[in-house]
Amino acid sequence: MAPVSSTSAVIRARGPRAGAARTATPRRDSDRVQVLPTDQPPEGATSPDARPRLSFAVPPARGKAPRHLADLDLAGRKQALREAGLPAFRADQLSRHYFTHFTRDAADMTDLPAAQREQLCAELLPDLIHEVRALRADGGRTIKHLWELYDGVRVESVLMRYRDRTTLCVSSQAGCGMACPFCATGQMGLTRNLSTGEIIEQIRHAGALSEAGGLAGGPARLSNVVFMGMGEPMVNYKNVVAALHRIIDPAPEGFGLSARGVTVSTVGLVPLIRKLAGEGLPVTLAVSLHAPDDELRDALIPVNSKWKVGELLDAAHDYFEATGRRVSIEYALIKDMNDHAWRAQLLADELNRRGHGWAHVNPIPLNPTPGSIWTCSEPEVQDRFVDTLRRAGITTTVRDTRGSDIDGACGQLATEVLKQERAAHTR
Ligand code: SF4
Repeated sequence: MAPVSSTSAVIRARGPRAGAARTATPRRDSDRVQVLPTDQPPEGATSPDARPRLSFAVPPARGKAPRHLADLDLAGRKQALREAGLPAFRADQLSRHYFTHFTRDAADMTDLPAAQREQLCAELLPDLIHEVRALRADGGRTIKHLWELYDGVRVESVLMRYRDRTTLCVSSQAGCGMACPFCATGQMGLTRNLSTGEIIEQIRHAGALSEAGGLAGGPARLSNVVFMGMGEPMVNYKNVVAALHRIIDPAPEGFGLSARGVTVSTVGLVPLIRKLAGEGLPVTLAVSLHAPDDELRDALIPVNSKWKVGELLDAAHDYFEATGRRVSIEYALIKDMNDHAWRAQLLADELNRRGHGWAHVNPIPLNPTPGSIWTCSEPEVQDRFVDTLRRAGITTTVRDTRGSDIDGACGQLATEVLKQERAAHTR
């Protein structure tokens, strides 16, 4: 789910707004206009009526990503080496090089017999992702990558250094079928699910880059991974859960990151939230809510037509009960669309009705985008929204918006590079 990470939350759309006229911010909530998601065609729409369609179907595979060590658990890796006529016990050493030292280069693996190194790497460590672009922002503390996969599809990841942590936002799908009208990835539709190896490779690159001092401030340890890049992780459930194991499980199975630093974000696929709660993986669940009322959310998050706000919050609360992990409620504040104080009160009431202290709300300020319906709230409106939540006893933290100067929202860099390449071809 894209727009909830601190970086990918920066929703920006272009083009004229066909909604109500704007004046100075009214003092009373009841005087405020109501802009609707349908007041403007989605970004990239080819006609005024064009709307991306919600789709759960994954298009037929055009092939399969090459098998990778990270697709398999340790027993599977041993089996794969045995079948290739290689000593199975080497799977352990190969896994430590990959997950602990972030390398897939045979030359680094000097504890392996020289005669076998290349063959072992060729068998289980194929090259899965290639860098197309790397853009830096925030004084070098944020790096956004555009990757090309084995079949030419492209995905993005964003690495962000904070005072107390280093976080990678990963993609779990190429494109997305959830059709959110504010999201550049949603306009692409779903191309395919990423394999576990393709997800994990984004993380290995980030781990290596952080450790080598690639972010401003010197060497850092990758501590957090958030599934908030391209795609809806729950639609790629099996590969995402396998990736969660590789992220959390200690070496040689995986990277051994703390589950507390891992977040899976969703627009609200209720049965799969319930399934994830039963996996025994205490990762944080982030729900991209963006509206507490079904009327608005039906238009803003198309999957709401299937699972309503009440069902979603029930499942989120049950997730908290099962895992003990406080749920993050992501709320992008969009001027005159969802930023009314009565909506903050409704959200607080809905959360408090289910218990106290189980959810944390993250309002996300958008970039100012004059002329677009997807623009930031007035500062005093944002303050009123946050105050309303806090006064109702809801822990609320306004997110920062890292990388907003590098096409930070998910799908924007891929779309921008594609446009540039097309322009270059037609010149
Ligand atoms: S369309 Fe997909 S990637 Fe974009 S916000 Fe919706 S769920 Fe996230």
